[in-house]
Amino acid sequence: MARTFGTDCLKQRKTRRRSQQGEFAALKLLYDLSVRNVSTNNLAEVMEDVLDIAIILSEADMGTLQLWDNTTGGLKIAAQRGFAQPFLDFFADVRAGQGAVCGEALALRQRVVVEDVGKKTNFVGTPNLAVMQAAGVGAVQSTLLVSREGRLVGMLTTHYRAPRPAADMNLAFFDLLASQAADIIAQVQAQQALKTSEEKYRQLFESMNEGFAIIEMVFDDDGRPVDYIMRELNPAWERQAGISKERILGKRVTEFLPVVEPVWFERYGEVVTSGEAKIFEEYNVSLDRWYEVHAYPLHRDNRFAVIFTDITERKQLELKLREHHESLERLVEERTRQLERSERLYRTLVENIPITICRMDRDYRYRYLSPATEKDYGTKGEQIIGKSWDELGYDEAKVGEWRKCFEQAAETGMAVKFEFELSDNKTGSQQYYEAQVVTEKDELGKVESFLIVSENVTTRKLMEQQLRHSERHYRTLVENLPVFISRYDKDLRFIYRSLQGETYKLGRENTSVVGRTWADLGVPETTYRPWQKKFNEALSSGRILEFETQYPNQNGEIRDLLLRIVPEKNGAGQVESLLSVGLDVTERKRTESELMRLDRLNLVGEMAAAIGHEVRNPMTTVRGYLQMLERKQELAGYGEQFRTMIGELDRANVIISDFLSLAKNKAVALESRSLNEIIDALLPLLRAEALRTGYDIQADLGEVPAIQADDKEIRQLILNLARNAFEAMETGGRLTIATGAEAGRVVLTVRDTGHGMPQELVDKLGTPFVTTKENGTGLGLPVCYRIAERHGGKIGVQTSPSGTTFKIIF
Ligand code: ADP
Ligand code: MG
Repeated sequence: MARTFGTDCLKQRKTRRRSQQGEFAALKLLYDLSVRNVSTNNLAEVMEDVLDIAIILSEADMGTLQLWDNTTGGLKIAAQRGFAQPFLDFFADVRAGQGAVCGEALALRQRVVVEDVGKKTNFVGTPNLAVMQAAGVGAVQSTLLVSREGRLVGMLTTHYRAPRPAADMNLAFFDLLASQAADIIAQVQAQQALKTSEEKYRQLFESMNEGFAIIEMVFDDDGRPVDYIMRELNPAWERQAGISKERILGKRVTEFLPVVEPVWFERYGEVVTSGEAKIFEEYNVSLDRWYEVHAYPLHRDNRFAVIFTDITERKQLELKLREHHESLERLVEERTRQLERSERLYRTLVENIPITICRMDRDYRYRYLSPATEKDYGTKGEQIIGKSWDELGYDEAKVGEWRKCFEQAAETGMAVKFEFELSDNKTGSQQYYEAQVVTEKDELGKVESFLIVSENVTTRKLMEQQLRHSERHYRTLVENLPVFISRYDKDLRFIYRSLQGETYKLGRENTSVVGRTWADLGVPETTYRPWQKKFNEALSSGRILEFETQYPNQNGEIRDLLLRIVPEKNGAGQVESLLSVGLDVTERKRTESELMRLDRLNLVGEMAAAIGHEVRNPMTTVRGYLQMLERKQELAGYGEQFRTMIGELDRANVIISDFLSLAKNKAVALESRSLNEIIDALLPLLRAEALRTGYDIQADLGEVPAIQADDKEIRQLILNLARNAFEAMETGGRLTIATGAEAGRVVLTVRDTGHGMPQELVDKLGTPFVTTKENGTGLGLPVCYRIAERHGGKIGVQTSPSGTTFKIIF
C-alpha cells in the first residue's frame, strides 16, 4: 500500500516538477504522515514512506534514512532508495566526522549540503568519494532527525546524480518532514523502550523472591496516615503474607488484617510525606519470619512501593550471633570481674605480706619486683629492673653462690633454698633473708625465668642470736651450780643433762646421753624402777615432786641424791618435758644422822649419869654381902646360886659402866699415845678369844703418828667393835685390824667377813639399845660412837653381805 503510494508520488514528481501542485501533494503527504497511527509494528513501513516523501520533496534521485544507535554512537541505515550493496555495506555504520556527508552532519549537529561531491576537497582521493561516485552520487544533503525534546534520532539523506546547487534542492518542506519523522520515530522508539522495560520489569516483578507491593497511603483530614490500600503486589508478596492477591487488592489494610500496627502507618506515611526512601525491619508474628522492608515513595497518588526481603535466616543467625556475643560478653565481664577481684586480693596480699617476690630472666636480670621488695630493699623498682647482680655491685663471691643455687634449680626443676644478707639502702642495717628459687618454664619446658621468694628473717635471726647468747649465759650458770640438771621427754629419754650429771656414772659425755633412757645407760632396773614411778607421777599430775634416792658416783661411792622433778608445760598446759634438779645430799645426810646419833647418845648419857651411881652403889653393897654369905659354912650348898647372883650383878654393873661412859661429860684423860701400841697390847687378848671361837685375826699396822687418846677408852672401842665382828662371823671368818694415815689423819679400820647389816640398821647404828641379838644390850656401838666423839673422831660404816668395815678417823 505504502509502496504503491510512494511509487505514485515518484511518478507525480517526474511529471510535475517544481509545480504548485507538487508542493501541495507534498503537504498532503506530510499531513497523511502526521495522522498515521504509527506503532512499533509499522515503524519500518513508515520510515520507507518518510524516505519516499523526502526524495520527492528534495527532488532527489536516491536517499537513505539512518537511525541513531545510542549504544554504539553510530548511524545505521534503516531505509534506502536507489543504492546497491557495496554502497550500503560501506556506509552501514557511520560515526561522527567519519568521511561521509552524514558523518559530517552528525559531527556538526547541523545539515550539511555538498553541491558537487567531486569538488569537495576533503573527499578527494578518499574511498568515500570513490564509493559515492561508483554509486553515481553527484550531490548530497544530510539533515538531522531531532525529536521535539531535542533528542537525535537519526539522519535523512538525499542524493542527486548530477551536481546541484543547494538552492535548487527545495528543502523548505524537507525540514518539516524531518521534524515530523523525528517525532514519529522518537515516539515509537519510546513506546518500544517502555514496552520492553515494562515487560522486563513485569517479569522481574512476578518472578522475584522479594515481596513487592505498590500501596496507596490514606491520610485523614488532618494529614495523618490512617490506613493504606494495596494497589499491586507480586506472587512473592502473596507467599510472604500468606494472603492471595484477589482477597486484598484494592482493599484497605484495616479491612483485611485483624490487627494493624500503628507504626506501619507512621513509617509508610513518612515515606510518602517526606518523599524519601526508608529501610526497616518487620517481623511477621503469624509466620514467625523477619523481613527487611525497603519503602520507596512513588511521588504519585500518595503511593509507595515496598520490597520485602526475607531475612529470617540472617536474623536468626544474627540473633544467635548476638546471643553468642552477649554470652561471650557476659563471660568476659564475669571473668574480668573475677580477675579484678583476684587481682585486688592478690595485690593486697602481695603488698602486705612480708615476703618479697622477684623474677629474674635467664640472664640473671631482674624483671619483676613485688611492692614488698621495694619496701624491704629500700630500693625503687626502676633502679633494679633490667639490671644484673654484677651491675648492682653485689659481692662476687655471694653472686657465685646464688648463681649455683639458681643453676641447681634450673637443672633439677625443684625449689632450691638459700640464705643471703643485704644491707638496707635506707638505714644501712644488715638484713637477713631466707629465699627459695624456682624456675618458670615456657611451653617447651625450657627455663624462661626464675622466681625468687624471699622472707626477711632479720628479726628472727637477731632473736635467735640473742637467745643463743642468753642460752650460753644460762648454761654457764647451770653448769657451775652445785646441782645437776637433766631434762627428759615424756618417754623419759634425756633431752639434756648438765655437766655435773657426769659425776653420776650415767655416760661419759653429755651428748652421749641425749635420746637415751636410764635402761639404755645401764642403770639397773631395781634402781630406776622407783625413779620411773616418781617421774611418771610428776608427768601425770603436772606437779613438782621431790624424792630421795641413791646412786653410785664415778668412784663407785653410793651417793644420796635429792631429786626435784619439775614438769614443764606447753601453752596448752600439757606437760611436754620434765626437768630434774638433783642435789647430792650425801654429806648433809651423814651430818644429820651423826647429829641425831649424838643427840640420842647425849640423852642416854645424861640418864646414865643421873641414875648410874644411885644404882651402882647399892649394887656394890649387895655384891659385898653376897661374897660374904657365899663363904658361910651353913650356906655351902648354895655356891652355884651365889656365883650366879654375883655374875648377874657384875653384868649389870658393866651395863651401868657402859651407860656412864655414854655420858657426854665423862672425864677422859687424853694423852699422846701410839695407836699401834694400844692395839699391840690388846692383841693377845683378842687372839685368845679368836682361838676359842675359831677365827683368824690379822693386824695391819701402818706408820701412824701419835694421837691424843685415853688408852682405856680406845681399848674399849676396839674390843666393842671386835666383839661385834666375832658375833657376825661364822667359824673361819677373819678379823682385820688396821691402822693408817689418810689425808693427814690417823685411821683405824676394823673389818670383818661377817654377814653385814641391812641399810635400815645402818641408819640406826649408834642408837642405844638397838640390837639384833638375843642377849645383846645395844650399847656397844653407842659407846664406840661416844668414844670416837670424845677423841674428836668420826665413825664410818661400809657393809655388804660379805662383810662390814668400821672406819674411825681421828
Ligand atoms: P649388841 O652387840 O649388844 O647387839 P651393839 O651396839 O654392839 O649391840 O651392836 C648393835 C647391833 O649392830 C648388833 O646387834 C648387830 O646387829 C649390829 N652389828 C654391830 N657390829 C656388827 C658387825 N661387825 N657385823 C654385823 N652386825 C653388826
Ligand atoms: Mg656389841
